Parts: sequence; structure tokens; C-alpha cells
Amino acid sequence: MSEAVATSHLRENPYELARTQLEHVGEVFGIEPNLIRVLSHCKKVVEVSIPFQRDDGTVGVFTGFRVTHNVARGPSKGGIRYHPDVTRDEVKALAMWMTWKCALMALPFGGAKGGVVCDPKSLSEKELERMTRRYTSEIINEIGPERDIPAPDVGTDSRVMAWIFDTYSMNKGHSVLGVVTGKPLSVGGSLGREEATARGSLYCIQALAGKRGQRVDEYTVAIQGFGNVGSNLARLLHAEGAKVVAVSDSRGGVYNPHGIDVPAAVEHKRETGSVVGLAGTDAITNEELVELPCDIFAPCALEQVVHAENADRVQASVICEGANGPVTPAADAILEDRGILVLPDVLANAGGVVVSYFEWVQGLQEYFWQEDEVNAKLRDIVARAFEETWQTRERYQTSLRMAAYGLAVQRVAEATTTRGLYP
Ligand code: NAD
Repeated sequence: MSEAVATSHLRENPYELARTQLEHVGEVFGIEPNLIRVLSHCKKVVEVSIPFQRDDGTVGVFTGFRVTHNVARGPSKGGIRYHPDVTRDEVKALAMWMTWKCALMALPFGGAKGGVVCDPKSLSEKELERMTRRYTSEIINEIGPERDIPAPDVGTDSRVMAWIFDTYSMNKGHSVLGVVTGKPLSVGGSLGREEATARGSLYCIQALAGKRGQRVDEYTVAIQGFGNVGSNLARLLHAEGAKVVAVSDSRGGVYNPHGIDVPAAVEHKRETGSVVGLAGTDAITNEELVELPCDIFAPCALEQVVHAENADRVQASVICEGANGPVTPAADAILEDRGILVLPDVLANAGGVVVSYFEWVQGLQEYFWQEDEVNAKLRDIVARAFEETWQTRERYQTSLRMAAYGLAVQRVAEATTTRGLYP
């Protein structure tokens, strides 16, 4: 049975891109080349095969990964992706970006990521559960509350996290709340986690508006991807009075220059499985959405959607990276020349890992916070990181991405140097 599918959405090798970015950061911020050499490698890459029984009695076998990039600042943290295009190098790049994101947010975590090469939509609920439990068993010695803590990413959700939590806990003989974040509230999840990534993006957009003397309700926004990040960002921006002119998912996009009824789009997606066909909108492709006239374009789906071939046609004045790695380095250079500001992924989508950190802390303490408290603490952390990044950008006269990576890599480098090279 063949389990790999589809042509990859990746135009370039993301791990090579991540390493090139790191080398560039090393040059701009004068970081010791020995440290850059250490940080350009992942600490551990585990590849597993995942046999599981399908509903028709046949056995499917998927390939899964769990990668730890760095643990100098604490246990590693990062999501698990279920997608047909997952590759070892994609997971390695995503793990490295998690290290920088956690450091930029000043969380006591290193970076990790997991992935399974599969199309979760083609599996029944029971198949998804069996596959998830077997994947968890295969990586059970890699994860744990003091070691490596997974979370949701593309194609996984709180339900999948509950199965991981249960499988791990059954093997340990007691409930281990801190093993995974993004859990349902009934089994130790945190209030506010579901929308935390989008909320962090909103706080960045608000901070930027403040710097520019503008208001969020003046903005028009196009959002690619209508899953956890995209749909919640659309909802939050709509509630703040911004005009969401386009949204999309893997099946296509919808556009209305006068503004989309976001609650109706959420309902339409729930009923039909897609935003496509929403009343009062025109159909557009995901490629067209990238080039729409608007103030903010928020890619909230997959990597490399803004690249060398379309960066000169982007009409937004700001790109808010809800997704990880949606803008390639070649596109970054073009956008910078054109004066288009990029709110980089490690800053703009870090709200998820911040509230995952809160969930981990609450789980360890078995003491749970009110939603207002979660959101207020999230705002403090994201606003501080935004301000530090903004100041660094001014000081080094560089892009926000370079400033964010510079701050983050310096923090990881300092922890690495302070701990020393073992043995
Ligand atoms: P999700 O699975 O909930 O949603 C993904 C969305 O993207 C879906 O609407 C899907 O239809 C759409 N999509 C898939 N392929 C597409 C394509 N080729 N073109 C357009 N749309 C496509 O995933 P998510 O959790 O919302 O994650 C989205 C992005 O945000 C990823 O890059 C992820 O790494 C990043 N991210 C997620 C979190 C989180 O907390 N969930 C945190 C930080 C970053």
C-alpha cells in the first residue's frame, strides 16, 4: 500500500533555508562561528514506522519523525504535523524555528517538531486514533514533561493531543499532564490555548498599528488558511473592526472587497468543510489571494507561499506570518526592497507556544488560571518581544525578521556558552 501522496508545496529545502538564515544572523550579529556551527545542527532526529490497522482490516504503514533541535534553554517544545508533504528536512527546519521562537519569547524551552507523512482527512476517527497511539508509543522515550513536549500543528488538534496524553499516561501508570499541550480543557488544557496563536498575531498587529499611529479598524486583511490560526485570526480581527476581504483553505479562497461576514464563513466551513462557495463572495485561488490589494496579508497555512516569482506582485503593505516559513529568503529581500514590512513567524505566531508554556506550568502545578489572566500574561510577553524586536531592528538597521532571529540566537548562544561544551 502506498502511503506517500501529492506533489510537495515546498519549492526549496526548508532546512537549507533555515541554516542559511542562521549563518546570515551570525554575520549580522557577530556571533562566534563555532556556536553557529553547533546551532546549525539538530540535536536528535528520530524516524519511526507506524503500522496501524485500518477499518477494513488491512494494515497501513506511515513514516513519522520527532526532531529535537536544541535544549540549551530547557526541554524542547514543538508541534506535531500530519500532512502528506511532511519530510525529514521540513521537520528539522520547523524544530530549529521553534528554538528561536521560544528564545525570543524568553520561555524556558528549546525547539522540537514532529510529523507524520499522511493525509489525516483520508482516515476515519478510529484509524486516526490507532495511528496516533502507535506513533506516540514509537516516540515514547523521546517525549516527556522534562524532556520534549509536543503540541498541535497542521492536521492535528486537541483530540489528537488527548490521545497522546492518554497513551503516554497509560504507559507511565498515572496521568502526566505536562507531556503535551493543546489538550482539551477536560483533561488539563488551558483556557485561551485554542485561539492563542491568532491572539498573539493580533497583539503584534496592534503593536505595529501603535508604532505607525494607525488603528486596527482601519485595516483591510487577506488571510490564507482557515484552520486554527487563520479562522481565529479572521474572527479576532473582525471583532476589532478590521475588514477581512479574503479567506481561503486548501480547496480555494473567497473574496469580497467590501468585507467578508466572518462568522458566516466560520459557519459555512463547519457545515461544508470549506470556505469555498460562501454567499456574497467571489471565488479566488490561493495564488491570487497572495496578490490581493489590502493592508495586511496573513499567510496562515503552509510554507513558501511568497517566493521569488510572486513577491514583486504582493500589494499588501504588511505580511503577518501566522504560518511558519511562508516567505522564502529570496522573497524577503524583494519585499524589503519594496518597503513591505514582514512580521516574522517567530514573533507573529508565537502566541501558541506562549500559552502552551502556560498550559505546561498549570499542569505541573495542577492549578488552573482564568482566561483573562491567560490573555493578559500572553499580551505582556508578546508586547515585550515585539518591543525588543522593534528596538533591535532600529539599532541594527535591519529587517524585523533579522532582528527577531538575532535576539533569539544570541539568547541560545549565551545559554550554550554558559553551560559549556560537554564533556
Ligand atoms: P490547521 O490544520 O488547523 O489549518 C491549516 C489550514 O491551511 C486549513 O484551513 C487548510 O485547509 C489550509 N491549507 C492547507 N493546505 C493549503 C494550501 N496548499 N493552500 C491554502 N491553504 C491550505 O493548521 P494550523 O494549526 O492553523 O497551522 C497553520 C500554520 O500555522 C502552520 O504553518 C503552523 O505551523 C502554524 N502555527 C500553528 C500554531 C498552532 O498553535 N496551531 C502555532 C504556531 C504556528
